[in-house]
Amino acid sequence: MDPATVETLFQRLAAENPAPDSELQYDSPFELLIAVILSAQATDRGVNKATAKLFPVANTPQAILDLGEEGLKGYINTIGLYNSKANNVIKACRMLVDQHGGEVPRDRKALEALPGVGRKTANVVLNTAFGEPTIAVDTHIFRVSNRTGLAPGKTVREVEDRLMEVVPEPYLHGAHHWLILHGRYVCVARKPRCEACVIADLCEYPDKTEEV
Ligand code: SF4
Repeated sequence: MDPATVETLFQRLAAENPAPDSELQYDSPFELLIAVILSAQATDRGVNKATAKLFPVANTPQAILDLGEEGLKGYINTIGLYNSKANNVIKACRMLVDQHGGEVPRDRKALEALPGVGRKTANVVLNTAFGEPTIAVDTHIFRVSNRTGLAPGKTVREVEDRLMEVVPEPYLHGAHHWLILHGRYVCVARKPRCEACVIADLCEYPDKTEEV
């Protein structure tokens, strides 16, 4: 996809949603970190339901440590993989208290050292809590980037690196949310809604669901 087309693509996605944000509910970097850890292979809605009860009771690393692993499980047992997630959250909180003064570090290496936090989670926290121009490639962004021809790649890392090269600077911070939302609601996995897509004329996908 040529640079002028990429620019138009982001102009259109940005016009639809000028101030994009995560669909996870959070009020601090720590709440976002915990919500993202809990969201692996779970829906944002399911995570929001659990954290709506958890965060009023415990929304700092020390408060979650005070709850203890079993106490924490009582709040998150509606979320898939909650046993291992509870274990990771407790270990991450311990590290935040011991090594970072109870704060979420604004640093990729330190974030990725936390249990349950990989590159994708670190990218979400850096982007959404700290306003850094990172792009966390999830299944939606991977699909949209490949289908449209925006940033083709065989692995999530390839797509991430390509996106960082091709997304124009003014759109770098919002790109993460625009591409996720586009993949979640329009360019869906099984039958993309090409007839309702604002970038259909720019998209290079050969199997669009309707002529545009
Ligand atoms: S035209 Fe279809 S395949 Fe291309 S981005 Fe839009 S929904 Fe996805």
